[in-house]
Amino acid sequence: MSTPEVLAGSGAVGVDGSLGTGVRLQNLTKTFTMGRRSVTALDDATLFTDRGSFLSLLGPSGCGKSTILRILAGLEKPSSGTALVDGKSPLELRRNHELGIAFQDSALLPWRSVLSNIRLPFEVSGRDRDDALVAELIKLVGLEGFEKAKPAQLSGGMRQRVSIARALAVKPSVLLLDEPFGALDDMTRQRLNVELLRIWTEKPATTLMVTHGISEAIFLSDKVAVMSARPGRVQEVIDVDLPRPRVPEMMRTREFHALHDRASELLFGAHGSGVDD
Ligand code: ADP
Ligand code: MG
Repeated sequence: MSTPEVLAGSGAVGVDGSLGTGVRLQNLTKTFTMGRRSVTALDDATLFTDRGSFLSLLGPSGCGKSTILRILAGLEKPSSGTALVDGKSPLELRRNHELGIAFQDSALLPWRSVLSNIRLPFEVSGRDRDDALVAELIKLVGLEGFEKAKPAQLSGGMRQRVSIARALAVKPSVLLLDEPFGALDDMTRQRLNVELLRIWTEKPATTLMVTHGISEAIFLSDKVAVMSARPGRVQEVIDVDLPRPRVPEMMRTREFHALHDRASELLFGAHGSGVDD
C-alpha cells in the first residue's frame, strides 16, 4: 500500500480542499508482532470528518477501535498510513496540550483526590486553573461530595466519571473517548450523554468516541463509522443529519429509528439479533 506523498505535508486540506479538516485517517494500517505471530489490527482504514464534529466508532470487539484512538493519542505508531486531527499529527497535539482523553483504563493518580485528579491537566499544560469549570464538571459527573475521595475509595463507574471530567477540564480542541460510559447504568449514561452534549456544544471539540451503544452513537454524533472485524476496516460511514441541539425525544422519531436500523444491519446483518440497545 502506498502512502500518498502529495498529501504528507499538506495538513488538513485534502486534494479537493476540504477532506478531513477534523479527523483524517488515510490508509491506516497497524500490525502488531508478538514473537513469530502477527496480528493486523487495522487494514487500510480511511476516515474523514470536519473540524469540530462528533464522530462515533462502532464495531465488533477486536476490530481496531481502540487502536485508532491510541494512534491518535500518540500511544501507538501506525505501520503505514496517516493519522491527523485538525491538521496536526498526534505528536503536535500532545505537545500543544490539545487532547482530552478518557480511555476505559485511564489511570487516575491513586495518591491524588478526585478534585486533584481533575485539576491535573491544568498543571500538565501550564494553563490557568478554572475552578468554576472544575466544580461544574464534578457536578456534571455526579461526584459532588466525593471531591476529597481517593480513586481506591470509588467504584469503577465513578472512576470512569472522574476520567471524563478530567478529559473535559481544559476544554480540549480534540476529544478522544474510548467507551467512556461503558461501566455505567442506563439512567446515568443517558444523563451524561445529554450533559456531555451540552458541554461539547459550548466549545465543539473534534471528537472521536468509541462506543457499543448504537443509540448513544447516533444521538451524539454527526457521523457514525461502522467497522468490520479482522482485519479492521471502515465498513460504512453513516451521516447523522438530525438537527442540533439534540434532545432525547428525537430518539423516538422515524429518522432516528431508520439510522439505528442501518447501523444494526451493518453490525449484525439484516436479520441479526443481539442489538445492544
Ligand atoms: P477494539 O478496541 O475494537 O476491541 P483493539 O484496537 O483493542 O480492538 O484491538 C484490535 C486487535 O489488535 C485485537 O486483535 C487485539 O488483540 C490486537 N492488539 C491490540 N493491541 C495490541 C498490542 N499492544 N499487542 C498485540 N496485539 C494487540
Ligand atoms: Mg477497545
